[in-house]
Amino acid sequence: MFNIGCHLSTANGFLGMGRDALAIGANTFQFFTRNPRGGKAKDLDQGDIDAFLALAAEHGFGKLLAHAPYTLNPCSADAKTRNFALETMLDDLARMERLPGNLYNFHPGSHVGQGEEAGIALIVDQLNAVLTPELHTTVLLETMAGKGSEVGRSFEELRRILDGVALQEKMGVCLDTCHLHDAGYDLVDDLDGVLEHFDRVIGLGRLHAIHLNDSMNPRGARKDRHERIGHGHLGLEAIGRVINHPALRHLPFLLETPNELPGFAAEIALLRGLYKN
Ligand code: FE
Ligand code: FE
Ligand code: ZN
Repeated sequence: MFNIGCHLSTANGFLGMGRDALAIGANTFQFFTRNPRGGKAKDLDQGDIDAFLALAAEHGFGKLLAHAPYTLNPCSADAKTRNFALETMLDDLARMERLPGNLYNFHPGSHVGQGEEAGIALIVDQLNAVLTPELHTTVLLETMAGKGSEVGRSFEELRRILDGVALQEKMGVCLDTCHLHDAGYDLVDDLDGVLEHFDRVIGLGRLHAIHLNDSMNPRGARKDRHERIGHGHLGLEAIGRVINHPALRHLPFLLETPNELPGFAAEIALLRGLYKN
C-alpha cells in the first residue's frame, strides 16, 4: 500500500490532523512535537488521542512521523543549548509513548565550529542519554543538505552517529530527497547508485521514512530550499522513480513542500497517479 502524506498543523489536535489527512487523500502525516522554534509543548488530550487512533485504525493509516523542533541542537558548543536539546528530546519521547509504534525524526544538529568529530560525539552522548529499552518509538536521524556546519550531510557521518549508539535497534534514518540532492547525491541520474551507497554504508533496513521534496537549487548547492513536486531541480520523473523504487516503495512518504492543504491534496493525487500498484 502507498503510504503518502504531508506535514500538517497540530492546531486542531491529532483528530484534526487525522481529518485533514483524510480530506487531502493522505494516509499518514508528519507533525511538530511542539513549536518548531522550541518552547513548551501543549498538554496531550487523551480523548483527542483516542478519537484519532480510532480514525487511523478505521482508515488504515501508516506510521506517523513526529518532527523535533528545528532549534534542537544536541551538538551545540553551548551547554545551555545542548541541555535544551536533551530536555526536549526526553519530553518528546515520553509524549510519543502515548502514540506507541511511531517515528520521531530530528536534525542531527550543527557543530558550529567545533568540528564534525566533536559534533558527532555530542550527538551520540545525547542519544545514549535518552534511549531506553522500553521505548516504543523509533528515533530517526534526518539526512541533511549540509548548509553551514550541519552534521549528517553524508551517509558516512550518519553511520558514525549510529555506530556510537548503544541501543541501535531504537534508531533509524529518514531520507530527505531535497537534502540529499542539495548535499550532492544524484537522485536524478543515479538513484540506484545512491541507494546502493546507502545500503553499503548504513543498510537499507535502517531506512524508515522519506521526506519527499523537490529542490529549488541545483545538485550540491547545500541550500535546503524545498520546492513543490515537479517544479524543482529533481523533477517529476525522478520523484516518480523514488516512490516506485523497490527499496523504497513500502516506506511512508511525507511531503514538506511549500503548500497549503489544497496544494498538498493536488500533489498527493499526482503521486498516487504515478505510484504503480
Ligand atoms: Fe527536517
Ligand atoms: Fe526534511
Ligand atoms: Zn529541509
